[in-house]
Formats: sequence, structure tokens, C-alpha cells
Amino acid sequence: MPKIRNNIDLVSKRIAQSADQCGRDPSEILLLAVTKTRRSDEIRHAIDAGLTHFAENYLQEALEKISQLHDQQLYWHFIGPLQSNKTRSVAESFSWVHSVDRIKIAQRLSDQRPESMGHLNICLQVNIDDEPSKSGLKQDEVLPVALEVAKLPNLRLRGLMAIPKAEENIEAQQLAFAKLAQLREQINHVLSAEQLEQMDTLSMGMSGDLEAAVLQGSTIVRVGTDLFGPRQKHE
Ligand SMILES: *Cc1c(COP(=O)(O)O)cnc(C)c1O
Repeated sequence: MPKIRNNIDLVSKRIAQSADQCGRDPSEILLLAVTKTRRSDEIRHAIDAGLTHFAENYLQEALEKISQLHDQQLYWHFIGPLQSNKTRSVAESFSWVHSVDRIKIAQRLSDQRPESMGHLNICLQVNIDDEPSKSGLKQDEVLPVALEVAKLPNLRLRGLMAIPKAEENIEAQQLAFAKLAQLREQINHVLSAEQLEQMDTLSMGMSGDLEAAVLQGSTIVRVGTDLFGPRQKHE
């Protein structure tokens, strides 16, 4: 079995096992392949093995691969830091953005989304451990932003995303994910009271902590290393 196939199989089994453990249906969890630093021929192997959702962090790098893989029916997710001068290309080339952390960015994405593409799916990035060095909204900033974003015409607010600080064991890892899940519930109550659509997505879990994330309700795990191998440092 080629390596990527084998890796997809291993990661899928980890997802399924954790889902089983907490009585969830594994089919509600999307395996999102993170392809930063990976060449489009590597991505083609992953496509051949059945993956259709791919995530990129850097716009220029992403646009090259999106263009090289134009013959494929794929869903591209933007997961990196997003500056306002880059929103147009993101709105025109991606299906999802997981890293929205300002209303201004969301407004631009909605304004610049081509009608023909339908809505752009949005997750708000939350700095769930309050780390000074990390991007993302503070927990108490999420609700007001969610209420605004949910009203923008060309966006669909799907959920919350977080990158918690690294923890060794699965119990410690689950704490931050549980906080994010709880935050989504609280905000969903308000959205529903305002007759706005509720968020169905928790984008959480990477190679090192996907089990903990699935146990706490993750619906999208973003996996790079355990699918494609270790990345070069430069990224
Ligand atoms: C790189 C990256 C990932 C994937 O991390 P791995 O540890 O390689 O699985 C997931 N999410 C974000 C936001 C990333 O930047």
C-alpha cells in the first residue's frame, strides 16, 4: 500500500476509534488534509486515495496548487492568518475559511465573494488558552463577532476553530477542546434566540491531539504531519 494511503487509513482508524469510544458516528467527522509545504503531486496521491478537502495556510502557495489541481473537484480551506489585503483571492478561491478573527475581514470576504460560488463557510478562530503570541478572538469577544458574521449575506457561519497549546496527555488536551465546545453551545443559544442559523462545526484536533478533539465533539480534524510526514522547518 502506498504510504499516503496507509497514513490516511491509520488516521481514519484513530478518528473512528475515538468516535466509538464516545458513541459518535465517525462519518460526522471530516478529515481535512493540511497541505502546507506539500507539492501538488503529493496532493494528487491523497486525492487518488479518496480525500477531497485540503487546507492551506499561505495564500500564494495555496493559489499555485489550486491552479495546478484545477482539473479536480476539491474543497479548499484557508486556515492561516488572513490580512485584509488578501481577502479577495481567498473569497474567490476557497470553500472555507477557519481563521476569521475580525469583523472587518468577514465583511470583506462577504463583499468579495462571487455570487456564482454560493456562500463561503466561516469558522471564527478562538485563542482558547489566552496565549499572548497566538491569533484568534478572546472567548468573550466571540459572541459579538458571531452575531455580526451570521448576518453577512455571502457567508455562512459554520463554527469555531482553535489551536490549543500542546499538552502531553489526552486528559489535559481535552480541557481546551471542551471549552471550545461549550463556547459554541453558549453562542448557539443566542443565535437561535435571534433566529439566526446555529453553528454545526468545531474545527479542532491536529496530528498530536485529534483523539482528544474527537472525544470533545470535533467535526473537522486538520491533519498534516500524520498524513504527509514531517514538514521542513522553513514553512
Ligand atoms: C499546520 C497546521 C495543522 C496541521 O498540523 P499537524 O500537526 O501537522 O497535523 C492544523 N491546523 C493548522 C491551523 C495548521 O497551521
